[in-house]
Amino acid sequence: MPEKKTDLCFLPTPLHPLKNLSKKYPGYRLYIKRDDLTGLAGGGNKARKLEYLIFDALNKNCDTVITGGAQQSNHCRQTAAACAAAGLECHLALGGNEPEIYEGNLLSSFLFGAKIYFTGEHRKGEDIPGIRSELERKNKKCYVIPYGGSNVTGAFGYVNAVSEIKDQLEKVSLNIDHIFFASSSGGTQAGLILGLELFNLKAELMPVNIDKEDQEGITQEENILNILNNGADLLNIKKEFSAADVKLIRGYDSHGYGVVTENETSAMKQLAESEGILIDPVYTGRAFHAMLDHLDRKKLKPDTNILFLHTGGLPAFRF
Ligand SMILES: *Cc1c(COP(=O)(O)O)cnc(C)c1O
Repeated sequence: MPEKKTDLCFLPTPLHPLKNLSKKYPGYRLYIKRDDLTGLAGGGNKARKLEYLIFDALNKNCDTVITGGAQQSNHCRQTAAACAAAGLECHLALGGNEPEIYEGNLLSSFLFGAKIYFTGEHRKGEDIPGIRSELERKNKKCYVIPYGGSNVTGAFGYVNAVSEIKDQLEKVSLNIDHIFFASSSGGTQAGLILGLELFNLKAELMPVNIDKEDQEGITQEENILNILNNGADLLNIKKEFSAADVKLIRGYDSHGYGVVTENETSAMKQLAESEGILIDPVYTGRAFHAMLDHLDRKKLKPDTNILFLHTGGLPAFRF
């Protein structure tokens, strides 16, 4: 496991039971891993990836980071904060047009000092190469972080998270049967798959697909498979990954990215009311709904332990 990273998070994040909610689903014991509490700029899963990405940027003597995403990108907010902490210039390509009022993640990214480009229809970093050429003309040494921070370097953050989860489970002699989480640009999922393999943790991943649109013609599955095979080489995992290793739960993404329906809002309300924990409408609310739907429909065997990985997203909180 690559040891070298820049410390940006407060780790380990808590892992605890959802006692009240478990009572509503007899036969299932529910737990939550609180990566909403990673600490960097309001928390979330991108902070773990950024520990490795920012280390790499500094190691390569770069002075400028470029990345992109949706206007309310959690990834861009955390990247902007990581850059501020590391003393790097940050440039963000954000979808949509400039709004009159800055809110949520956009406001945070602005406060962290990022230079923001509004890129209209492009919400997956399509304009990064153009921004890079422009900055290189000004002699900036650029480090490009792909959409969602999802390459093999970023995925190491979630390889590491598996070792953390394994330690936490061993301490309380707990086995987890299923891990539900929101999967979008794929780095979290790829890191978890590599981590389960590397640390020999037996749990079935339940990645809930959030965004049904491909990224520049590459499917989510292809992107994850690429990261897996790169990662296997770097981590000395003797396994050739195939499409069969990349499962995605589709069908909860049909309304489109960022479209909030009764599914997401009722999941948010149920967790909030029963446990006093907030989730967001775009990612974790959708994934939590998918988990509850699996329980309601008894799609999982009874007498199982289920972990929900809370990947954050609270600054994009709205209905
Ligand atoms: C980015 C994000 C995800 C998805 O993680 P990926 O590594 O992009 O698949 C899930 N939840 C939240 C809150 C996110 O910001």
